[in-house]
Amino acid sequence: MGRMTHVLTALAWPYANGPRHIGHVAGFGVPADVFARYMRMRGHDVLMVSGTDEHGTPILVQADSEGLKAAEAAAKYNRIIVEDLDALGLSYDLFTRTTTGNHYKTVQELFTTLYGNGYILQKKTLGAISPSTGRTLPDRYIEGTCPHCGFDSARGDQCDNCGRQLDPTDLVDPKSRINGETPKFVEEDHFFLDLPAFADALNAWLDTRTGWRTNVVRFTKNLLDDLQPRPISRDLDWGVPIPLEGWVERPDKRLYVWFDAVIGYLSATIEWARRSGDPDAWQRWWQDPEAVSYYFMGKDNIVFHSEIWPAMLLGANGEGAGGGEPGALGRLNLPTEVVSSEFLTMEGKQFSSSRRVVIYVRDFLERYSPDALRYYICAAGPENQDSDFTWAEFLRRNNDELVAGWGNLVNRSIAMAAKNFGAVPEPGELEEVDRELLAATKAAFDAVGDLIGANKVRAGIGEAMKAVAAANKYLADTAPWKMKEDPKRQGTVLFTVLQAVSDLKTIMSPFLPHSSQRVHELLGGEGVFAPMPHIEEVADLDEGGATNGTYPILTGDYADVPKWESVPLAPGTPLAKPVPVFTKLEPSIVDEEIERLHS
Ligand SMILES: [Zn+2]
Repeated sequence: MGRMTHVLTALAWPYANGPRHIGHVAGFGVPADVFARYMRMRGHDVLMVSGTDEHGTPILVQADSEGLKAAEAAAKYNRIIVEDLDALGLSYDLFTRTTTGNHYKTVQELFTTLYGNGYILQKKTLGAISPSTGRTLPDRYIEGTCPHCGFDSARGDQCDNCGRQLDPTDLVDPKSRINGETPKFVEEDHFFLDLPAFADALNAWLDTRTGWRTNVVRFTKNLLDDLQPRPISRDLDWGVPIPLEGWVERPDKRLYVWFDAVIGYLSATIEWARRSGDPDAWQRWWQDPEAVSYYFMGKDNIVFHSEIWPAMLLGANGEGAGGGEPGALGRLNLPTEVVSSEFLTMEGKQFSSSRRVVIYVRDFLERYSPDALRYYICAAGPENQDSDFTWAEFLRRNNDELVAGWGNLVNRSIAMAAKNFGAVPEPGELEEVDRELLAATKAAFDAVGDLIGANKVRAGIGEAMKAVAAANKYLADTAPWKMKEDPKRQGTVLFTVLQAVSDLKTIMSPFLPHSSQRVHELLGGEGVFAPMPHIEEVADLDEGGATNGTYPILTGDYADVPKWESVPLAPGTPLAKPVPVFTKLEPSIVDEEIERLHS
């Protein structure tokens, strides 16, 4: 991607049935933001979109448990999640919801195109009814034992223990949660996506993919050996209505939550374009053959991004085995790359709200800075293998690496220059050791940038921290504090290290944007260096959704980001005594946090 390219950065949609814990943002939230921020600095036209996934049974179950309507529960958790992602500084161009009128319209448009091209099958299937009332029993009111893992409270559409999708007929010993009776199964019509019709097209497309993580390619190729039609409608009263005559007005049949949620990437781009005042602008990321799209998700979500969503796009383009024509949205681009992360555990255990093995993003950010969390995620997140979050390791990374490494370099160099010169000093002739440091820091732009571009965030921040260590070593070796008798050489050394700090704040800014902004200001810079998202309260663009008319979005203006390059520092720029950029943590936080987990 040498020249400017349109880059869609598409993040998995967090499910709005509760607040999100740090495991949710560690796998893909922060890594995708690092990627998007870097790509903007390289001059690409980046669009970063996502939103909350708000349909389906788990929302209804959560709403029931709180005495709320589904729309109220979804709105409540949408707002909490928006605020948390904002506090973390995730630079979404649009973070929206799946309950907007725009999303309903886009989902129905895609369904209609797939249906018209013959890729949606209507089939008889067994549905549950209550023998005592004769009425349809929605999936969430059926409970039984999971045939896969033996969990005894699996629901009619999903097992919360092993995460597999189920049909009510899959359950061993199914029971109604309303009155305990055994449901009766009767034949009824449902809709299925004809996945087998895409086997050849998916195979051919996968063969053209290069640079994907091997786990994604291997996993997807295996799936293609056994494709089955996949249900896309449910017995449910919460979701996007099925846009066919005889179905659209039925209150008890809705599109399956997964089918509408994956279309969110497209509907969010369309919503962003409509809000930007250029309603066709979305096409630049979806129709331009030169545009690229990167999808970020956890490994439990690979199938939707490497198989099902590409199949839906192929079908909408008329490129499955049955042919067809593109619909009203034109020919749409398939994913360029599917970037899947592994899982984060906590203190050796799986995150679990019910078992209290959890730290919510909000609680974390009440006690620690967003960049302390971002640093941990970048340096030790579950990029290529599962990784474990422990409070002891968080303390060590924060104090020994972030504070003692990068924070100390910033503080010492700016404090010394402020005290002795009150400004960025005028350098004299550079010596070999000075030129070496500046060359090493400049070389870090390419080294770190290439790694971020390849979605190797852990290696990227490791490379950046090596450049920090080199600058700290330069300070220790040259010892400018011993140069009181030679202010000219002292000025040259301090100028050199400040130039390195200035370069490093640029290199660090995709990972640690909040602190890079502070370093920019400490070096006498003005204005926005690392742009941040903000929350806006907006009106729904269309009727027909379930948002109640207004909702919060996360958006931002990222047009004026600095370039990914070294910018010469101006000697004479006034410097004040710096306030520390990072906070050293007390060792006692480890016991306090573990105590909190157990209380
Ligand atoms: Zn199970």
